[in-house]
Amino acid sequence: MAHYLGIDIGGTNIKAAVIAEDGGVQAFAERRWSGGDPSELVSVAVKLADVVIGQTDGVPIACGVGCAGIVAHKQGIVRRSPNLPTWRDVRLAEILGRKIALPMIVDNDANAAAYAEYMVGAARGATSAVVITLGTGMGAGIVLGGSLYRGKHGFAGEVGHMTVDMSSLTPCACGATGCLEPLVSAGSLVSRVLSGAERDEAESLTARDIGTRAAGGDTVALAAVEELGQALGVGLANITALLDPEIIVIGGGVAEAGRPLLDAARDELVRRTSRCREDLPRVVPATLGPAAGVVGAALLARDEFKR
Ligand SMILES: [Zn+2]
Repeated sequence: MAHYLGIDIGGTNIKAAVIAEDGGVQAFAERRWSGGDPSELVSVAVKLADVVIGQTDGVPIACGVGCAGIVAHKQGIVRRSPNLPTWRDVRLAEILGRKIALPMIVDNDANAAAYAEYMVGAARGATSAVVITLGTGMGAGIVLGGSLYRGKHGFAGEVGHMTVDMSSLTPCACGATGCLEPLVSAGSLVSRVLSGAERDEAESLTARDIGTRAAGGDTVALAAVEELGQALGVGLANITALLDPEIIVIGGGVAEAGRPLLDAARDELVRRTSRCREDLPRVVPATLGPAAGVVGAALLARDEFKR
């Protein structure tokens, strides 16, 4: 059976997986890296590729790579990446292809995650889907009629940088003000729950912890999750106004805050669109978890280089 290699480059971790033709994960490995240095990236990615290929029969047909940032997907170049600030115009497909010796495809990590949820996850069977990844930042991939929509310049799906408050002075990582991302990021959720002094002591507090607190009756945690859900719902209303997708999938670490988050987002979506619930996109949690990006990268390679 044909196999495909996927590599997912995050700011702190690199993941690799081999998948079968049907998207099933045959082998998976993950390793931390310091971020920023392309030569370290290549060395870690090659080692991980060797590990996962060694755990499966035969050699993969092709390799897909997902990376945060602006990716010129046809050229295989990572133009800029927020997690890898020293990177400019890194010819990733060429550099990795020299070492891994497989046909390579490179795409934005949110696109890769979206493709996985669309092919084998929560959006399977839909004709149009927007898959949002909510973590340190907010990204999305858009699938229309079975294909990723990347936009003319590769910026499509940058939903975190939709302006939602023209009068806001809150700076966003992109350099603008009034963006959605600072209102819905993991850091925003934690700062809604903890005071400044507490934040210093509780660096490891996760969205899942806050969701658990909310479910256990902690009113501060519940209010924080609901406020964040409301802000997310504003974004969903904007997405719906533009694309009217069949389904919107919410994944990433912040989504682990759980049901109150999606309930609040759905309520806000209904409130801001003068449509009844049946005429709105379904809003559902992602099903593939943190492996979505690496699986999606391999699936993109499958569909690009299928024999
Ligand atoms: Zn922004």
